[in-house]
Amino acid sequence: MNGGLQTGVHYDADYERHDTGPGHPESAQRYRVLRKALEGLPPEIVRLEGGRRATVGEVLMVHDANYHDVVYRDAETFADFLRTGDTAICEDSYDVALEACGAVLSALDAVMEGRVARVFCAVRPPGHHATANRGMGFCIFNHVAVGARYVQQKYGVGRVAIIDWDVHHGNGTEEIFIEDPDVLYISLHEEHIYPYTGSASVRGRGPGEGANLNIPLPHGSTGEAALAAWEAWIEPAVDGFKPEMLLVSAGFDARKNDPIGGLLWNDDTFAELTRRAVQLARRWGAGRLVSVLEGGYQPTGLAAAAVAHVLALGD
Ligand SMILES: [Zn+2]
Repeated sequence: MNGGLQTGVHYDADYERHDTGPGHPESAQRYRVLRKALEGLPPEIVRLEGGRRATVGEVLMVHDANYHDVVYRDAETFADFLRTGDTAICEDSYDVALEACGAVLSALDAVMEGRVARVFCAVRPPGHHATANRGMGFCIFNHVAVGARYVQQKYGVGRVAIIDWDVHHGNGTEEIFIEDPDVLYISLHEEHIYPYTGSASVRGRGPGEGANLNIPLPHGSTGEAALAAWEAWIEPAVDGFKPEMLLVSAGFDARKNDPIGGLLWNDDTFAELTRRAVQLARRWGAGRLVSVLEGGYQPTGLAAAAVAHVLALGD
């Protein structure tokens, strides 16, 4: 049941142009396995084309102009890494990052214009570690953050909730919105791993006090712990905030056997988290939800979990 509107998915082989070099976990090969799996989704899941690059102005809703120029120049001069941190790049990475960001904005247009109810955007590079002035953790531009600003500015949406279930804390998204009372950032992540932020004591700052919720889980936590945290903390926080739009930073590196993450979630965990997010979207955001791929580094596991996520978006 989705009110007659279909669920959308976006993927594109073009993202495989972002070449992170041999042996890198955030690889084009990882994406290729995911893309092939998404190509096999049932026909009632509508494939959305990306269609456009984000404009520089759109990126600058979130990122500093100096940082944008760093990305442009580093790619143009064939650097192997962004000079701001641990993000491998190639000469196409600036373009691909803008395409990824633009695809998320196109998906938001499709949802806001009522063409689809919900969309999963399988894009890369990922985004949630990128701060206003620094790319890091395989991330260049913060697509979810740009998306939140985009719906606020273009569609007059007031309150946006971002739920991030990547195994890593989304330090970039947190930092961007830390003083913003109109963007609720919620992160469910493994404690004591990269990027070593995400303490439960960080609840927002100044006018944004209370609009940031970190839920660190111990190494080895199963899906049950995630679902219990959802019930205890996430659902009440979203209900208290009353968002008009829900975004999900959908990483799949909390899945068991991920080479980077140390949690033990399975495909049913991701399906159930998705169903609960859809319930909240129905309750507060007219059913509108856009999810964006972040991590997930065991390719077949990533593909299986992402398929479970997309199918549950339509439930
Ligand atoms: Zn991650």
